[in-house]
Amino acid sequence: MDNLSLAPQTSAAEEFNFDQFEFGVTPTTHWWHASYADGAWDKGALNLFGKISLSPFALCFHYGQTVFEALKAFRLRNGRISTFRPREHWERLNRSLERMCMAPIPEELFFSGLEELLKADSNWVPAEKDTALYIRPFVIATEPRLGVKPSEEYLFAIVCTPIRHLYNHPLQVKMETHFVRATEGGVGYTKCGGNYAASLYPASLARGEGYDQLIWTDALHHRYMEESGTMNLMFYFNDTLITPPVGDSILKGITRDSILTLARDSGIRVEERPLAYTELQQVLEKGIKAEVFGVGTAVVVVPIARLNINGRDYYPYTGPDALMYRLQQELESIRRGLVPDRFKWNYEIGE
Ligand SMILES: *Cc1c(COP(=O)(O)O)cnc(C)c1O
Repeated sequence: MDNLSLAPQTSAAEEFNFDQFEFGVTPTTHWWHASYADGAWDKGALNLFGKISLSPFALCFHYGQTVFEALKAFRLRNGRISTFRPREHWERLNRSLERMCMAPIPEELFFSGLEELLKADSNWVPAEKDTALYIRPFVIATEPRLGVKPSEEYLFAIVCTPIRHLYNHPLQVKMETHFVRATEGGVGYTKCGGNYAASLYPASLARGEGYDQLIWTDALHHRYMEESGTMNLMFYFNDTLITPPVGDSILKGITRDSILTLARDSGIRVEERPLAYTELQQVLEKGIKAEVFGVGTAVVVVPIARLNINGRDYYPYTGPDALMYRLQQELESIRRGLVPDRFKWNYEIGE
C-alpha cells in the first residue's frame, strides 16, 4: 500500500452524540481498503480512519473512473448487527464497475471487507429508531498516468458514518423538462461519480427557485418521470402502486425492489411502467387521491408534498394513513428484526 499514508484520524463511538448530528461528516474509527495492481486484488486491510495520498496524475482525478455504493447496517432487536441486502449491493457495484471499465470486486473480498470493518466498528451501529450506520464502499482509479484509458490500478475502500433519515420533512419538487440525468445507452443505471456531478447544477437551479429537489424526466421527450435526486419514484393512485421500469436510465434501487416486494406480498397491485407526468396531472386535477414518493437507502421513503409541473403546483396526498408510511414501517420492522425476515434480506455480521 505505498500510495496510502495512514495518518490516523481517530474518532470514538463513545464520544459521538447519536441524538443530534449532521450526516456525512464523522467517520467511524476504522476504514477498510484493498488495492488492485498487476491484474489482481490484494487481500485488503483494516486501518484507523486516515487519509489517502495519491499522485496528482492518478486517473480518478481526471477522467472520472469512480463508482460507489451505499448500504446500511442496523442493530437488530436481539442486539446483533445486520446489513441490508449486501449481495445486491455487491452485484450492483460490479455492474457499475463493468460499465466504467474498472476491475470487478470478487464477492469474498467485498464480504470480508464488510465483515472486518463492521466487527471492528460494531459500537458505531446505533440501536435508536430511525438511525443506522451508513456504509459507503467505493472504487477509484489510482494509476498515475495522464491519458484517457482504463486504469490498471484501483483502490477499493469502505468507510462508514452514522445516519438518520436524511429528509424528515416532505419534499417540494419541480418537474425538470430541460436538463437530463440519463439516457438510453448511457450510464444512468450505474452509481458512477459523474452522474452526481452532472446533477448538481440543475438541482442548484431548482433550489434557487425554492424546491428541495427535481424530478428527472426521460431524455428523449421529457414526458415520462424517471427519478428524483438519488431516489427511485413511486406513485399510488386508483389502488395501484406504479413505478417506472428500471433500464439504462433508471437505477435499479434495492429499496425500490424491497418496497415493491412488500406491496405485492400484501396484495397491492403493482405496475412497473413508464408514467407520463400528464397522466399524473390528470389524476391530481380530477381530485383523485394520489401519493408521490421517493425511495432509496439514505432516505428510505420520503413523501413529495408539492409538485410543480410547468409552473403549476399540485399537492399529492401525504396524510398519516398513506400507503407509503405503512410500507416504510414494514421495511423498518424487518430491518430491526421486529418481525420475521421472510424474504431473507438481513445479513447478520458475527461479532
Ligand atoms: C442509489 C440511488 C437510488 C436508490 O437505490 P437504493 O439501492 O435503494 O439505495 C436511486 N436512484 C439513484 C440515482 C441512486 O443513485
